[in-house]
Amino acid sequence: MKKADFLNETPVPYVDTEFDTLLTILCDLIVKGQELDPDQYGMVAAAVVDPKGRVVASTSISVNDNWCHAERSAIDQYTNKYGPIPKGCSIVTTLSPCSESMKDRYGGSCEDMIEDLGIEDVYCGYQDPTQASGYSITENQKIQKLCKEFADTFLKTHINESVRQTLVDFLPLAQKELGLKRLPTIRVVNQVPDAGGTTFGRYVPEEDVVYVVARGRHPKDTLRTLAHELVHHKQDIEDRLDITSGDTGSPEENEANALAGVLMRKYNELNPMEVNENFADGKVKGKSRPGRVKRAGASCKGNVTSLRKKAKNASGERAKMYHWCANMKSGKKK
Ligand SMILES: [Zn+2]
Repeated sequence: MKKADFLNETPVPYVDTEFDTLLTILCDLIVKGQELDPDQYGMVAAAVVDPKGRVVASTSISVNDNWCHAERSAIDQYTNKYGPIPKGCSIVTTLSPCSESMKDRYGGSCEDMIEDLGIEDVYCGYQDPTQASGYSITENQKIQKLCKEFADTFLKTHINESVRQTLVDFLPLAQKELGLKRLPTIRVVNQVPDAGGTTFGRYVPEEDVVYVVARGRHPKDTLRTLAHELVHHKQDIEDRLDITSGDTGSPEENEANALAGVLMRKYNELNPMEVNENFADGKVKGKSRPGRVKRAGASCKGNVTSLRKKAKNASGERAKMYHWCANMKSGKKK
């Protein structure tokens, strides 16, 4: 990741109260990256702050058509410069760390990485609404808004992509479980038409359309809404809807909530990975001890040449593990 060297800040001592200042510097870094090469540098920036006050910062970086997230890139660069992450480091990032699986991400989730490194202090500019929560978020509204604006440039497409895939996985199950011969049109919208901002879904019988809001929500919440509205569709087909059906506490509404719960349980059983990931929110996730490669902060992802290059740029155990990965991939016995 040589190209990112320009992103290294001159070490300046930082204390907790100055993390907001650091966030503004990180926002600046994002802008600089965009001016330099928007294909290479992304819309999130993060910094490692060590107990000595040394700071290494980076934006997210494009690596072989994937994105190395800012947290990972900053940690990699810190390690290259100063060695292993010492105890008592903080991560300051414009967007809260990711926890869910992502197909265009280089390496594992940032949440896992941060946990594995034993970093407890994470300070964020903005909470990614689709990822695990529970990190400290700045109370400075201006900084938060700025960080959100950067994140929204890609979060929108991310949400749409992940939601679309989740819907494709979910709909056949819902159709089968509810015994529906056909499905209504599903419209993923930013706001339900003719409804207040707090309405996340609506079934409109005369249009044969289910509206569901995905933006800014966890995919599981979107699915639950969709399941609920599909039950209303079923009730409509069975001529069981009337003017009071949408009222809280009506038999139809209670049935929709109950069946949505059943559907979600079945969906979770069939998608155990997703269930585990979603426990990330509550930090209940059972975690096995990471293997030697992961513990060393290395990864066997990538081709032999890139792994050799990484080995050369790394040192100690991490370099050893990259060599090991490269040897393994090139077919050499260890
Ligand atoms: Zn991440």
